[in-house]
Amino acid sequence: MKGMVAALAGPERVEVRSFDVPEPEPGAVVARVRRANVCGSEVHIYHFHHPLIRECVLGHEFVGEIVALGEGVTTDYAGQPVREGDRVTAPYYLTCRRCPACLRGDFNLCQRAYAFWSRPPEVEPHFHGAFATHYYIHPDQYFYRVPEGLPDEVVAGANCGLSQVLFGLHRAGLSAGDTLVVQGAGGLGLYAAAVGRHMGARVVAVEGIPERLELARRFGAEEVVDMAEHPTPGERAGRVRELTGGYGADVVLEVTGVPAAFVEALELARPGGCVVEIGNVNVGREHEVPLAPGLITRKMLRIQGFVRYQPWYLHRALRFLEQHHREHPFGELTDREYPLKQVGEAIEREEARRVARPAIVPDL
Ligand SMILES: [Zn+2]
Ligand SMILES: [Zn+2]
Repeated sequence: MKGMVAALAGPERVEVRSFDVPEPEPGAVVARVRRANVCGSEVHIYHFHHPLIRECVLGHEFVGEIVALGEGVTTDYAGQPVREGDRVTAPYYLTCRRCPACLRGDFNLCQRAYAFWSRPPEVEPHFHGAFATHYYIHPDQYFYRVPEGLPDEVVAGANCGLSQVLFGLHRAGLSAGDTLVVQGAGGLGLYAAAVGRHMGARVVAVEGIPERLELARRFGAEEVVDMAEHPTPGERAGRVRELTGGYGADVVLEVTGVPAAFVEALELARPGGCVVEIGNVNVGREHEVPLAPGLITRKMLRIQGFVRYQPWYLHRALRFLEQHHREHPFGELTDREYPLKQVGEAIEREEARRVARPAIVPDL
């Protein structure tokens, strides 16, 4: 059987290439991709701006269905029986269980996490990414069966943004009665609003785009701080103090990816509060911002960055969606659908977007 992958052949150059779909090795699974979202990280890779990744098969947020099970695979990683035709999703990275990070149980920091993700398409088993007709789930890769009744468009983003914010907010110790400030109401911020709300927190979203402010409310934000109304960090900090009895937020989640927003988060958090950094992922001089470390000391802040997530948070994400997907417009996080041969256009649309993401539907 032949399948196709959308591969990056050069900066801003995507080619659809055909390969034999491999038989899964023992412990592996081959899935047919039903739907994949375009994520901000694909934009980065598309322009060759990623520090390491060059020619590669694109795509990592997806839902698929099993076409072949490798020897020994009878259940998913939650122990649920699986068979051909079942819908599944998987974290987009490997967990080798043999490296120093895995030895500590920090599976999200596995040093071989991206051993296949960034590989060129000609390297077997070819189907390393989700912008493809098929996706190869490796023996060192967790995967979970998707609950019945969850639409593909609701599930496709679970293995990236939703799992990420569940992991971050859980580890930050957010609890009922807390105030959570979410900086940025893009995909991650909207997921965080819903998760925070259902964890029992009061959610305040800080955002400048009107459609996103509206969505933030529909995803569970009780208050919004409109950056058009409060254009300076000082005004926004003042507004958050007003909303928190003059004391500041228990947890501040930064998901804008703007370095200055991190400094602002230090201002928004209450004394003894926690700042969760997920949005800023770039390093290097051009991403530096001045800040006074004394602020961290004097407020006794906890600051925690999060990269990827412990793989079992994807299982929690699916259960969360199963319970709450009707309460918030998860399906509206993506709008237009593109076939494989238009992956380049889809990525350019992602780059220009203000609100909903494009999705790749290989069968289109
Ligand atoms: Zn992603
Ligand atoms: Zn490892």
